[in-house]
Amino acid sequence: MSGASEIVAAERERAERHVDVVKVMARGGMMTAGTDVFVPQFSIEELRLLVEQSHAAGLPVTAHAHAAAAVDQAVAVGVDGIEHATYLVRLADRPGPGGRPATCHG
Ligand SMILES: [Zn+2]
Repeated sequence: MSGASEIVAAERERAERHVDVVKVMARGGMMTAGTDVFVPQFSIEELRLLVEQSHAAGLPVTAHAHAAAAVDQAVAVGVDGIEHATYLVRLADRPGPGGRPATCHG
């Protein structure tokens, strides 16, 4: 799912099924070959659209977001909860003192 029209259609389909909550994979796929776990799955505009559409339908949104960038994105667009978050950062992007990499735990 990607692109505004697909996001709107996916949200409407779930609302019509009277789901209690919309859960989005803001970035998942830690076990999925060929995916980059550090890169958000949606643009921030796409994720914001999903949250706005869901909230307009009275539905809360939770996000599955392991990547730090995806967690930050989900918070920025106002998701109601984040599940399965580990706040992963690419070590090369976070050099620590003396050039040693720093880790981030969540
Ligand atoms: Zn999850």
